[in-house]
Amino acid sequence: MTNNNIHTTFDRILDRSAKEKLLQQRARVIWMTGLSGAGKTTIAQHLELELHNRGYLTQVLDGDNIRSGINNNLGFSEEDRYENIRRIAEVSKLLMHSGIICINSFISPTDKIREMAKNIIGREDFIEIFVDAPLEICEQRDVKGLYEKARKGEIKNFTGIDAPFDKPHDADIVLPTDKLSIQESVDICLKHIEPIIQYDK
Ligand code: ADP
Repeated sequence: MTNNNIHTTFDRILDRSAKEKLLQQRARVIWMTGLSGAGKTTIAQHLELELHNRGYLTQVLDGDNIRSGINNNLGFSEEDRYENIRRIAEVSKLLMHSGIICINSFISPTDKIREMAKNIIGREDFIEIFVDAPLEICEQRDVKGLYEKARKGEIKNFTGIDAPFDKPHDADIVLPTDKLSIQESVDICLKHIEPIIQYDK
């Protein structure tokens, strides 16, 4: 039998559990999905601060630090969105295997794309949060003026306008941010997540 993979994987001397022990936490990937303007990044950043204050090591990945760097060669076609999420999932997995709690804020619009991310990261390590604000509210907020541009046709393939968003059916947490304050959403996340990431000796 031939093996075309020249990158043989050897057992590592230091594995994930050694790093989790050092950090005294259980690593996971917390994945926020939802429309632009739903509140993903806002909640991710507040959640990160709360976890940091409780002694957890975290890393937020969002459009700002991913699309400007590692994925700056990708656009918003279906193919590029898929590749965008594939790389993000692989990076998250590396961070998680270093013991870090990774908090991701990406529209990740389709069942197919989220399924792929879950398969890369591993279902048991993936905490899915649906940041669920109605399109009308996101459009009213229009934080970055993107909806207005999409309505005028200046931006193509904009999720919710001329590109699809499949609502997740099996999210671990659903946050209707038209009804919850930012703090209420963060509290709901903390209540669910803390028992999972706590390190028990
Ligand atoms: P996304 O990352 O989903 O595109 P952002 O977090 O960048 O969304 O933007 C959401 C905007 O909505 C922010 O300006 C935030 O302050 C505002 N906002 C108003 N009410 C809420 C709420 N209840 N929860 C989250 N964000 C809210």
